[in-house]
Amino acid sequence: MTPEVDLLRAVRAAGDRVVGFLQRLVQIPSRTGAEEQAAALVVRELRLLGIDEVRTDGAGNVIGRLTGATGRSVMLHAHLDVVDPGDSHAWTHPPFSGTLQDGCVWGRGSVDDKGSIVGQVYALGLLRELGLCPPGDVFVAAAVGEEIGGLGTRHLCTQTLPDLAVIGEPSSNTLRRGHRGRFEFIVTFRGRSAHASTPQHGANPAFALSRFLLALRQLPMAAGGDFGDSTAVPTLMYVDQTSSNVIPAAVSAHLDWRNAPSESLAQARAKVEQLAGESLEPGVTVEVGVANRLVSSYTGLSLMVEHAVTPFWTEPDDVRLLAAQEALSGALHRTVPVQVWPFYTDGGFLHAAGVPCIGFGPGDPAMAHVLDERMPVEQLLEATAGYMALALRLGEDRLWLDSVPGT
Ligand SMILES: [Zn+2]
Repeated sequence: MTPEVDLLRAVRAAGDRVVGFLQRLVQIPSRTGAEEQAAALVVRELRLLGIDEVRTDGAGNVIGRLTGATGRSVMLHAHLDVVDPGDSHAWTHPPFSGTLQDGCVWGRGSVDDKGSIVGQVYALGLLRELGLCPPGDVFVAAAVGEEIGGLGTRHLCTQTLPDLAVIGEPSSNTLRRGHRGRFEFIVTFRGRSAHASTPQHGANPAFALSRFLLALRQLPMAAGGDFGDSTAVPTLMYVDQTSSNVIPAAVSAHLDWRNAPSESLAQARAKVEQLAGESLEPGVTVEVGVANRLVSSYTGLSLMVEHAVTPFWTEPDDVRLLAAQEALSGALHRTVPVQVWPFYTDGGFLHAAGVPCIGFGPGDPAMAHVLDERMPVEQLLEATAGYMALALRLGEDRLWLDSVPGT
């Protein structure tokens, strides 16, 4: 469906409302686990925009639905939580000021990820105001807990799922067809403790860890094409001791493993286990586990989550990806390229739950998590028109006729 309306012009006419909403949303500090007020603001704005159905789920995610025709359902997805701004005095404008200056809305979360939420909320609102009916239902999902393990989206995936999701994370308004995943392994070598003056009575596990780390650097990694090959680096390391004159009984290293889409958790884990096993010496054993963490949402929902985020990917010739590119290029009056994200997103959970995903969002990815984060107004307005165009196209039944999601 090609809308008769110039979507970008329609968004510009509502520009003050769109920008004002981003300013108000940035002004609410919504660190992970404390998104309640930001969620309430999104609920209010959706209702003011006349969206049919708005609710907050058990994790505190906000879900709004615009009723469409009988086609497929599309979810516009972004996250409410933000990372800590650090020293607020180091910012040009206070991190939760939402200051509008030099054509940008300044503040923590303006790019990651509130610009996407605002674009998605107003996409629904403006479609309704303009009387444009999408081919199928369109949802917005403003999720909690993205920055510490995806609590909100993990919960969302246990509910009714859409036929397709558009992941709103900063992409400078280009299309993204996926990203690598991340596994965090903990490798623990255990030996036998002894007085450091009599090492012959102990079995120091540090030597096995050293052999393991040197071998890790030589390990052939899975090829990832455009996504980049898998990578594995040791990060945290610690022993079970605080005394420097005692041989530790155990030494652990965390591995940050970014997996190419072709590599599964089981495959990566098998590689780590084999390498660790080959690094042993008499009296030393090894255990390999996936790091986990108990996370809680503001609603009180708690979940033990494994640090294992799967990738999402859509094939370059996927008919819905190409339809998205055509729809965006038409709405934004320029060719919108398809790229991949260097970082992971909540899209991995949706992909793992069987929902095909594509990515699109305003703001420069390099602005995420840094000082003086700011969203160019022009990109925010473009993205809003872009989300409208995607909502009007991706639910078309014919896009599902003879294609399968990238699996
Ligand atoms: Zn984000």
